[in-house]
Amino acid sequence: MQPRDLSDLSPYVPGRGAEEVARELGMDPDDLTKLSSNENPHGPSPAAVAAIQETAPRVGVYPKASHTDLGEKLANHWDCAPEQVWVTPGADGAIDYLSRAFLDPGDRILAPEPGFSYYRMSARYHHGDVATYELSKADDFAQAPATVLDAYDGERMVYLTTPHNPTGAEFSREAIVELAESVSEDTLLVVDEAYAEYTEAPSAIDLLDDYDNLAVLRTFSKAYGLAGLRVGYGVVPESWADAYARVNTPFAASEVGCRAALAALDDDDHLDTTVETARWARAYLRDNLDAPTWESGGNFVLAEVGDASAVAEATQRQGVIVRDCSSFGLPECIRVSCGTRETTPRAVETINDAL
Ligand code: PMP
Repeated sequence: MQPRDLSDLSPYVPGRGAEEVARELGMDPDDLTKLSSNENPHGPSPAAVAAIQETAPRVGVYPKASHTDLGEKLANHWDCAPEQVWVTPGADGAIDYLSRAFLDPGDRILAPEPGFSYYRMSARYHHGDVATYELSKADDFAQAPATVLDAYDGERMVYLTTPHNPTGAEFSREAIVELAESVSEDTLLVVDEAYAEYTEAPSAIDLLDDYDNLAVLRTFSKAYGLAGLRVGYGVVPESWADAYARVNTPFAASEVGCRAALAALDDDDHLDTTVETARWARAYLRDNLDAPTWESGGNFVLAEVGDASAVAEATQRQGVIVRDCSSFGLPECIRVSCGTRETTPRAVETINDAL
């Protein structure tokens, strides 16, 4: 017996871990600079680490209230109803929950190309099909309503990523409104704001007051530095609360993760430092890399380097891990995450040497 045929899907290959690369290079992992997964170089808030330690003795029991507490706190944060917040195991989990709630077999999604691969994977897991809208390099990967609408053909779900991974380009609020106005009311517009803490642009969450075919995704993996704990959420219309109760995997967002997220939300100073460092590093990368780069609203910069695989391998040998964007269909580009004020200049020097 064999599993069903998913051979059209490329397996999700996360960037290599620092430990693995360090072992191969015979280096101390602490001497490596990992700028391949858009993580927070400052790590989690100390308050989140304390919450993890406090919660550790209780992991032997199923949690009761942690994810409800987190939903309520987020509702307060975003000035919406608690029923609008779907706490999920990472933003990936939110993508899956929406697939579960909205896709019937054969329904199609519309996703960006290049773009985050999990949109299509989740759709396929749920027996959906995938169409794409192309973001073109010739157009600086501009995220314009026309690009989406030219490709749109009544799909059940349309994904928008802003800031976009891996390009950093953004949709303006006007663009999102235009799309919400233009698609069918049976099309769910999913606005993925995984990197939104790093941009100056406002969240689309308040547009939920006006549209009931909109979902906004956020995560604690990026600016909150909790990637290893898998906590994200969607903000959705209040009337979908019943669907959440039905699609929610029991205890999927862990007690430890939710408690850490609750603590992280209270640490504004850590978030401010994180965002300030990332904006500084983003400008530094753009100003100092000897390669064409694109404007980015995220904590990373896309750079055109010729042979991305060769450049990524060369920098890795020097202890700097960057993302070769071949798997995004951009074999000439690398994506470099924002490091600290110490690691970023060193990484730039290494990358420039490899060009
Ligand atoms: N959306 C985008 C655009 C991403 O880049 C990522 C992480 N790579 C996610 C969602 C998922 O994030 P997580 O599941 O860690 O919350």
